[in-house]
Amino acid sequence: MSTPQTIGQRDTLVPVSALNEFVYCPRRFYYQHYHDEMGTPYELIDGRSKHEKQSQRGGWITERYFRATELDLHGKIDLIESGGDVLTPVERKRAESGQYFPSDEVQLAGYCMLLEAAIEEPVNVGYIYLYETDERYAIQITESHRETVHKIIDKIRSMSVDSIPPLTDNPKKCEACSAREYCMPEETAILEPEKAQGTGWEGEV
Ligand code: SF4
Repeated sequence: MSTPQTIGQRDTLVPVSALNEFVYCPRRFYYQHYHDEMGTPYELIDGRSKHEKQSQRGGWITERYFRATELDLHGKIDLIESGGDVLTPVERKRAESGQYFPSDEVQLAGYCMLLEAAIEEPVNVGYIYLYETDERYAIQITESHRETVHKIIDKIRSMSVDSIPPLTDNPKKCEACSAREYCMPEETAILEPEKAQGTGWEGEV
């Protein structure tokens, strides 16, 4: 097992939550990654020592941290359902719309891949639970999900501080975006209109 990074060091593995952020908007991920605008470092914990401290009640396992260097991925699964020999990650979401998004499926796929790397058994189903509706959706993790996870990891790892991704082509996403004050989509569209071409923002200013 590789030595975990300490807080303050950049981890070379990609956190699973970053998959969701990147799918939402690569530019948002860029600002979070390079400018630490969210201000909260990942809690980097040795997987084995964390394992020993876990609470396990009935059919639920909570807060399990995993690293998989072969996947270039790490992350904490908040909840795993244990039914017999089958372990199923559960991703809980707040979604005022009452729906989950493709980015949530990609994140869940990342957790399934991490879990199966740890237990060395296939994990082909995960759950998305929505607080607002108290509903749970079983998601079959397909080869397409897995390929998407790998592609996003490659894209994230090829990003550099010198290259800011373009504005999203869906300005509605910007309304609830925590990186907006750094990204400044309206100002970009006014001052550098060529950068807003084809994004939807050129019609907003
Ligand atoms: S404000 Fe919009 S374009 Fe900028 S990072 Fe957020 S979602 Fe992306």
